[in-house]
Amino acid sequence: FTSAIIGALVALSLIALVLSLVGVEDVTLPPTVKYGMVFDAGSSHTSLFVYEWDSDKENDTGVVSQTLACHVQGQGISSYANNPPEAGNSLRECLAKALEVIPAEKQRDVPAYLGATAGMRLLREQNSSATEEILAEVAETMQEYPVAFKGARILTGEEEGAYGWITINYLLDSFTKYSPKAHTWLHPEAANIFGALDLGGASTQITFMPEGSVLRQNEASEFILYGYRHNIYTHSYLCYGQDEMLQRLAKELIVESSPSSRVRHPCYPEGYEETVRLSSFRASPCTAGSDPRLPLGDGAATLEGRGDASGCRAALRKLFNFSACGQSQDCAFDGVYQPPLRGKFIAFSAFYYNFKFLNLTEGQPLAVVRQAIEGLCTRSWEDLSSSYPKENPKRLPKYCANANYILTLLLDAYKFNETSWNNIFFQMKAGGAELGWTLGYMLNLTNVVPAEAPARLKGHRA
Ligand code: AMP
Repeated sequence: FTSAIIGALVALSLIALVLSLVGVEDVTLPPTVKYGMVFDAGSSHTSLFVYEWDSDKENDTGVVSQTLACHVQGQGISSYANNPPEAGNSLRECLAKALEVIPAEKQRDVPAYLGATAGMRLLREQNSSATEEILAEVAETMQEYPVAFKGARILTGEEEGAYGWITINYLLDSFTKYSPKAHTWLHPEAANIFGALDLGGASTQITFMPEGSVLRQNEASEFILYGYRHNIYTHSYLCYGQDEMLQRLAKELIVESSPSSRVRHPCYPEGYEETVRLSSFRASPCTAGSDPRLPLGDGAATLEGRGDASGCRAALRKLFNFSACGQSQDCAFDGVYQPPLRGKFIAFSAFYYNFKFLNLTEGQPLAVVRQAIEGLCTRSWEDLSSSYPKENPKRLPKYCANANYILTLLLDAYKFNETSWNNIFFQMKAGGAELGWTLGYMLNLTNVVPAEAPARLKGHRA
């Protein structure tokens, strides 16, 4: 019997020796990677984001990364009101690119979403059947591809704000921390949670965790993430995105100088001229309201740049209704409730693009920012266009206007001041992923950020 055991042991050792010689050893299976994709159908353009994560760790924080960002050619989907099938076709190039980065055997399991924001909210106000047709066309196109289509819809402004907030705090790992010492998940510290400031072409969102509870239902959102309840304040201002704001400003300036068709524009550079057709104001509900001072018919007006930063801010301020707040402290503008600001904020999308152009994303104090903006606004169009030959010629004349709009919005409207200004971080990415609502939306819908605290079943893994 003993010799039988010895024989077996020798045989086993021989097998082990042979296996190790041919390179077969104890292997753990590779973790399975999951993917998800979300189209951000914004007012000015559409982008597709593909994300991936390790399914073994999916309920942990900070494991989702961005695999691909693809920018769709052309305008936003709301610009296809007269040709909805083209809205669907516009997505094809990015869908094909996405399939190149996702292994074929995984594609059918990839949840695919499309969320449209303020451009489509505005179109819905004017032409709801066109919005329906566009959404149907983009859905149909997405369904032609071998992915798990989960829907194409218009997000509410509050969803847009809240998901942007989730994205930021997920990427910065501020929701929860595992303490290996205490073998437990630690309560997220309010001070480590960031607020979100998002500036799009047609709307802008502010989202943060206020001290105490949010007193108005319209602006309150509740999320239970990793076992903790988060009550956040969020508001989206339609028609306060930077493109709509510039349209509103142009209309106001034209109305004020009517009947003259040459109009001084304080926010455009000296030497720059732009001709606008009055009919363009009818294209958006933000400017479509009839004004008895505006000439009827299809006239045009020429805007002449004046390069006057303080005149620009004064003109922009008139587009906010500050008196609607009366004596109320907890009020931003247009009578909208806003609790006192709290904590640090990340300002992304157009907040970032404009400040990046001005080299103002390194935490410069407000006085330096003001000076840089004044300096930019005094430069003539001739100087600007020769100094920035590579800059998009459509964007270049608007940086002075946009930068002054950002100051007005942050300081006069949201009520940041010299001190709290230092709590705003202008940033476009975190942990390799772009900031925006798309990641938060996907995390929430796929339950990758669960309501419960992670079980930490695989506690042995570092
Ligand atoms: P959207 O996200 O489409 O609502 O638009 C955001 C705003 O940022 C629009 O006014 C765009 O024109 C503007 N924008 C987008 N990309 C850039 C960029 N790379 N540089 C400057 N502005 C940009």
